[in-house]
This record gives sequence, C-alpha cells and structure tokens, in this order.
Amino acid sequence: MISVFFRRITRYFTSASLCCLLPIITASSLHIPAITVRGTVARIPTRSIRHRDTLYLPIAAISRAYGLILTEQDGTSFVFSSQDCRLELTPGSREVTINGETVEMSGPADWVDGKMVVPIYLAILTLPARFPPGELPPVIPAPSLVRITLDPGHGGIDPGAVGENGLLEKDVVLEISRKVRSLLEIKGYDVFLTRSGDQFISLKKRARLANRRQSDLFVSIHANAAYNQLAQGTETFYYAPASDLWARKLAALENAVLKLESAEESNGQLNTNTGNGGGGGRKQNRLAASIRAARCVQERISTVTEFSDRGTKTAEFYVLKYTRMPSILVETGFLSNRHERDLLADSNYRVKMAQAIARGIDDYIQSQVSRKRATPLKAKEDILLSDRAP
Ligand SMILES: [Zn+2]
Repeated sequence: MISVFFRRITRYFTSASLCCLLPIITASSLHIPAITVRGTVARIPTRSIRHRDTLYLPIAAISRAYGLILTEQDGTSFVFSSQDCRLELTPGSREVTINGETVEMSGPADWVDGKMVVPIYLAILTLPARFPPGELPPVIPAPSLVRITLDPGHGGIDPGAVGENGLLEKDVVLEISRKVRSLLEIKGYDVFLTRSGDQFISLKKRARLANRRQSDLFVSIHANAAYNQLAQGTETFYYAPASDLWARKLAALENAVLKLESAEESNGQLNTNTGNGGGGGRKQNRLAASIRAARCVQERISTVTEFSDRGTKTAEFYVLKYTRMPSILVETGFLSNRHERDLLADSNYRVKMAQAIARGIDDYIQSQVSRKRATPLKAKEDILLSDRAP
C-alpha cells in the first residue's frame, strides 16, 4: 500500500504562498494519491481520480468534509448547501458558484463511474480560502482505503509443487489465500485475489492486475518443494538479487511457469522502470517497505507454525519484480517434506497459516501508519501536484 500506506508519506503544503491555507489537506501517497480532505466539519479520507489529465475528487468527500448536503437539483445543475456555504455545480461546466461568486475550475465537473467529481483544486485551494478548516482531530486512515492484492500461486494447467500423495500446491495456496482474504476483509481492508478459482493466470497478468488496481501491498502465496525431503520451514521473500543459491533455485522453479505462457505474453512489454526492477527513490521506498512487510509476515508465520523459521530472503521472482508496490512472496511450507505436507493438507492448519499471514499483513500496515504519524512532515512541493506519472 504504499510506499505503503502506508508506503504513503503524508505531506503538507509548506510553501509560503500557501501557508495561509495550511493545513488544508493531507496528501498521502505512494503511488496514487490517497488524500484527506480537511473541511470545516470533518477530515474525509478519499482517493483522487486521474481524469482529463488532472486529479479529481468525488464531490461526496468534499460535501462530507464541509457538511454540505444536496439541497437542489435543477435540470443539470446541483446545489450543495450548509448553514454558511452554498455551492452550485453543473457537470460539463468549469464554473462553480460559491455563495453567489462564480469561480472557474481547472476542468469541468464531471461524472466518473456514476460519481460526480470535481477538479482537486476546489478542495485544496478554492474552498479552504473561503472556509478555513478548524482544528480537527488527527486523521486515522480508513482501512477500506488500503488495497491488498493476494496472489495464490499457480493454477489451472500449472499445479505448482506436487506432494507425494498428489497434494497440489495450487489447491493448498488457493484455500489459504481465500481465508487470508476473509480475515483481512473483516478488518476492513480492500482485498483482491489474482485468481479465485483453479484457473491459469500468467505471471505477467498477476503483476498487471496488482498494478492496475493500484494496490498498496502485493502478497504472493506459495508452498515449497525441494529434492532434499528433509528441507522444511517457512520463508518470505522480497525482490532483490537472490540472497543465496537456494533462493536462486527457488525463483527459477517458481518462474518456470513462464515457459507455459504464450510467447507474446512472456515477451510482453513490461516497463521495468515502473516495476520493482526500476530505478529512482520510489524503488528504494518500495524495497524498504517490502522488507518490512516480509519481516512482519515471517515473524507471524514462524511463531504460530511448527515449521522451522527460514527467515526473510531475497530472490528474483517475476511477480515481485514487475509489481509497482511493496511486494512479498510467502512460502508456507514444503510439500516435499512428509510432515509439512500432512500439515498443509489439514484444513485446520491452513486456517492457522492464513491467520498468521493476515496478522503479519495487518502488523505491517499498522507499522506504516505509525511511521507516518511519527515522521516530521516537510515537503517543498505537494505530492498531489507533482505525482502525476501515468
Ligand atoms: Zn509456487
């Protein structure tokens, strides 16, 4: 999420010209600006929308922040009012009338996915200049704004590791992933599975799904296999050059499915500059956040399982390389080890594993939130205005 929420760094306006408006808005983003509209009556977390080459916000978030309610709807125009503010908007028009004064916005009010949206400047400049926000309690980010993509490994024609008794990695990890999803949803997170059934999804598509969804965290869930049947334990990976020979071999094994993918897909035009393989400060943020996420999850799964703790490691997994958010890959045990295979076949055990993964993910997100609170907030420029990479 972020780089996390969470990979998001909260920034405030600090430029002199805007200091009179400060603090108006909290922009927190790693990738897409998730922001908080600070109005006169509330702070409302929301997500901005890229639309017409600029950033838009739902009018619903602005209304709640300023205590406005829809009071009139006359043909195509809409009037939102509170005791001391009357806002009139017409979708398709750049003009907004605020208490009788007509102001031109940077773009027209519009409809996106059935929601009325307006250019972000209305919330961050125009309204605060007329209705200064009061002292409001600190923002607690809404879990529903945290998007987590869970990626059950393999599927369809790709069974993944196969246990001696015919137990398939693709089935084990799908059930664990589904349980992780429901546990995280109970906590309020917005969770998405790259596959919810036994279907084949290319590695490229998994990364693309997570990127398109602008996820804050990507967690790929697998089970291990080794020629040495004594090998056992859990381990969690993040993307970087392989930390040891085992990690390199495992990445080769997990990436082997690339051979099953069509030539077109595996030769696809993934832009490595935007993946974890890319450069820049964001890469460092993502890496640091991925390491934290891997540690949080590994700590949980290593304490609630009997498996030995193989720790956090680095390897060049395809799905981790091409996702743009903090990304980890969890190996939940060895199907090649008789003891662990029996455990992974047991649905009670899968529940425990899912609980551990979900707790680890929650630990990570909470840690990012407290980091954000603890960070002194200084930014020369507003991320909302600068963070416009397509
Ligand atoms: Zn696997």
